[in-house]
Amino acid sequence: MSRIAYVSGAYVPHRQAAVHIEDRGYQFADGVYEVIAVRGGTLLDEEPHLQRLHRSLKELRIPAPMSDTALGIVLREIVRRNNINAGIVYLQVTRGVAPRDHAFPRSATPTLVVTARASRRPDPRQWEGGIGVVTIPDIRWRRCDIKSIALVANVLGKQQAREAGVFEAWQVDGQGWITEGTSTNAWIVTNEATVVTRAADNAILNGVTRLALLDIIAREGCRLDERPFTVEEAKTAREAFLTSTTSDVLPVVRIDGAPVGDGKPGPLSRQLRAAYLAHAASPA
Ligand code: PMP
Repeated sequence: MSRIAYVSGAYVPHRQAAVHIEDRGYQFADGVYEVIAVRGGTLLDEEPHLQRLHRSLKELRIPAPMSDTALGIVLREIVRRNNINAGIVYLQVTRGVAPRDHAFPRSATPTLVVTARASRRPDPRQWEGGIGVVTIPDIRWRRCDIKSIALVANVLGKQQAREAGVFEAWQVDGQGWITEGTSTNAWIVTNEATVVTRAADNAILNGVTRLALLDIIAREGCRLDERPFTVEEAKTAREAFLTSTTSDVLPVVRIDGAPVGDGKPGPLSRQLRAAYLAHAASPA
């Protein structure tokens, strides 16, 4: 079956889908995006994703390309036309097409692109055995709370992880605090069984998976501390894990080559992963 993309008003074959060379997304990374999971043919946590999209658009002063009702129709239509049961929808909004000039154009119509694809089958070894991370300096800008398409620092970081033979790179700020992964949020479990993750400030993206897991942690009665943690604390933690739309909850068992805890996925990581998968299968 051929893939279909939505590009500013039209459903087109994916291979022919294109935007203008003077789209500000292409020239300035002047845009935002969202990745929404599709589970059982429906969109998971659509509302918080759209809320975050609106927040990102507002911070960059880009008008919404259409109403939420219309956007919801496009998202569902892309899922339907691509026959996606399990996968993701990618949506991107840029400030639009205009002659190249850094300042905002006087008038431009935001470009909306929506694509979808089926999930690659996750490797069960990743959650059964856990994954490794390396730590790298966080070289990104100071508005990582905005889900901007300007991802080149994240791209370089993920490539470093690949070249180190691990799943993710945890970025570390100038004070030695871990901010987040290149496309995931970072968590540890202390020796007192308290779950720790950085509060949603300008240094991290407030993950929708992160938000869902915070609800689950409250419901399951786990202890939680929203605060930054250092590389040293992570390395001596009892457990560690990461979260994202495409990874769910993945145990982290090695940091810079050193085992976390006993080097196996910990009980709390496994419990929270199971609870998150239950939420994803039938969102509350
Ligand atoms: N941090 C960054 C930098 C990300 O790119 C992502 C995924 N887009 C996340 C965290 C996780 O966010 P979510 O749970 O919404 O996928």
